Amino acid sequence: MTNVRDKLLATASKTAVPESTNYSVHSRDSDDQNQQPQRCYLGLGGNLTNELGTPSEHIHQAVATLQARDDISHVRLSSLYASKPMGPQDQPDFINAVVEIETSLPPLALLAVCQQLEQDAQRVRLRRWGERSLDVDLLLYGDQQISLPTLTVPHAGIRERNFVLVPLAELNPSLVIHGSAIADYAASQDWSGLTQLT
Ligand code: AMP
Repeated sequence: MTNVRDKLLATASKTAVPESTNYSVHSRDSDDQNQQPQRCYLGLGGNLTNELGTPSEHIHQAVATLQARDDISHVRLSSLYASKPMGPQDQPDFINAVVEIETSLPPLALLAVCQQLEQDAQRVRLRRWGERSLDVDLLLYGDQQISLPTLTVPHAGIRERNFVLVPLAELNPSLVIHGSAIADYAASQDWSGLTQLT
């Protein structure tokens, strides 16, 4: 099993990359068509079994759906991780993973794909930060910074969530988020409540 923590420590950079050189700030124009393919990262997580499957099966089904699309390529899934719930504690542990893709879909179209994957897993919203079969977040869209009413990229909260940063770093330890190397985020090396499963 890959020791993600050791890899991260080895690649930790103390030199923050200036934000202005790493991000272009986009508004509504970011949903223009005919873009160059972008490398993007989606966060997948869930903790409910339903008639369609277990949380792990929901993740694998979502990845299969992404692989079947002709507007998405280079699909690469991280390990699966078990994590403690962020919100109410009277719910099962979550299963989390991150998937790397390349796509020329514009950001809002990719968000719609994420939301369709949630619907495919018959997601029902019971309570805030509560149980769900599958949650799919658009974590990173190339090196773009996007601020729209329905879409914030990098995903809000990405810097504090070890169940997102650890699998992200597993897939690409040289990622830069908000101008800093992923290895420099404390949560990317904080395994509290996190167990690598596969
Ligand atoms: P949740 O299902 O709790 O993750 O929240 C979904 C809502 O967050 C939707 O209304 C989205 O429009 C919004 N949202 C904003 N930014 C993102 C993002 N980067 N990825 C997924 N949903 C996002």
